[in-house]
Amino acid sequence: MKNHADIIIVGAGIIGVLQAYALQKRGLDILVIDSATGPGMEVSYANAGQLSFGYSGPWATPGLLKKLPDMLANPATPLRIRPDWSMEGLYRQLQWLYWFTLNTSRKNFERNKRRILNLSKYSAKYSRQLLAETGIEFSNRSLGTLQLFRDQRLFDTASNNDVEPLRKADVAVQVLDAEGCIKQEPALARIHANIVGGFLFEEDWTGDCYILACALVKRLTANGVRFLFNTPIAAVEVGKIAYGVRTGGNLFYSANAIILATGPLTRKLTDPLGLLAPVYPVRGYSITADIIDEAKAVQSTVLDEKIKVAITRLDHRVRLGGTAEIGGFNRDTFPKRYQILLSALEALFPGSADLKTGVEPWLGLRPMTPDGTAIIGKTVIPNLYLNLGHGTLGFTQAAGSAEHLARVISGEAVELDPSDYELERYGKRYQNHALYHESASVSV
Ligand SMILES: Cc1cc2nc3c(=O)[nH]c(=O)nc-3n(C[C@H](O)[C@H](O)[C@H](O)COP(=O)(O)OP(=O)(O)OC[C@H]3O[C@@H](n4cnc5c(N)ncnc54)[C@H](O)[C@@H]3O)c2cc1C
Repeated sequence: MKNHADIIIVGAGIIGVLQAYALQKRGLDILVIDSATGPGMEVSYANAGQLSFGYSGPWATPGLLKKLPDMLANPATPLRIRPDWSMEGLYRQLQWLYWFTLNTSRKNFERNKRRILNLSKYSAKYSRQLLAETGIEFSNRSLGTLQLFRDQRLFDTASNNDVEPLRKADVAVQVLDAEGCIKQEPALARIHANIVGGFLFEEDWTGDCYILACALVKRLTANGVRFLFNTPIAAVEVGKIAYGVRTGGNLFYSANAIILATGPLTRKLTDPLGLLAPVYPVRGYSITADIIDEAKAVQSTVLDEKIKVAITRLDHRVRLGGTAEIGGFNRDTFPKRYQILLSALEALFPGSADLKTGVEPWLGLRPMTPDGTAIIGKTVIPNLYLNLGHGTLGFTQAAGSAEHLARVISGEAVELDPSDYELERYGKRYQNHALYHESASVSV
């Protein structure tokens, strides 16, 4: 394999793969490098399968801090904070939590929500284009997301506070009573008495992120994009510009531009360059099981508002996804978290899936920024670009993020405001110029 490319993308998760697609369409020679054995093996592997173009927003909401003590005291709530006792870990954890806290102010929330929704809506446009161009099937459906309420107080509060701003932001959302919810998801008729109402995000899709990533890689490989797996990158090589990457095995690959699509592992590469990309791993769980009774099964995504579990249909399977553990890179799993997912399925779609054999449990590390908004765009280091930190929405926002960055790199007119997504939005101290002026080839 030749060791030069127009563009090197580090990371073949859903973000890196779609980035390769957007750039290959522009006639560029692309090399994608990943430490995993294949595409989408990390957090893109078994996410909840929602392309939630309308149901998109930050986790840092006004009022969250007040609710936090109750949430943490109740083991059934989706949020857990576990101290990361490693030397560096605790410092990073507290730092990130502090930044996250700052984003719960009303002003920051409104700004973050606007940025996130804009990117998700933009992504809807380029996801439709992707489907039209490739016809790839990835267990996809376009039946919407049903945000389901089983608690009258929660439903009333959300109806009063959330719906109007969503409509103002051009999100197609319908408010449904219990009958409306059952019309959307007929199997819910069996628990009619427990349903208060719901919001239907009509334009949302569902699909299997991993299947999409693999199908795209096959297609891109046939079109000349090179993929190098089992290859950890130890350092980005930077002089006055970024000019290549060095592997753990000390091989060097050069390029005219380098894009990091490295998800939660980003800081290993960016910290040594003096770039502080505030991405932290927020652990989430999923379970995938076979459907055994169609009449009892979910048809699209149902999101249980109380316990924040998403139940998504993927052809003959159902996937349950949720929970947020702020606990560092540790991959130990806690059986109770899987139990929460299973109890959501039994509460809403009892008897629909085979939970005895062939159940696939999974843990993923969401690449979360404190403002919930992805980091996409140039850095102070010429020729080094970032496309990462999509948190809970990477599958949803992949196509739009890739198109936006492809436009930035190729000098085409952009359709999103670049300053909303660049690392620079956090301020100058996140981009340390001193290292950028030195030759900063630093190993990790
Ligand atoms: C439980 C759960 C449910 C979710 N549900 C949804 C959902 O329904 N909808 C949605 O939109 N999003 C969802 N998400 C979030 C979504 O899965 C992520 O935002 C998205 O997959 C991020 O993709 P990525 O390509 O940035 O990261 P990844 O898929 O992790 O890809 C990064 C890649 O970079 C590689 N890499 C990193 N460092 C190096 C290095 N130094 N050298 C070489 N390779 C490197 C890794 O091996 C990896 O393959 C969910 C996440 C979780 C955990």
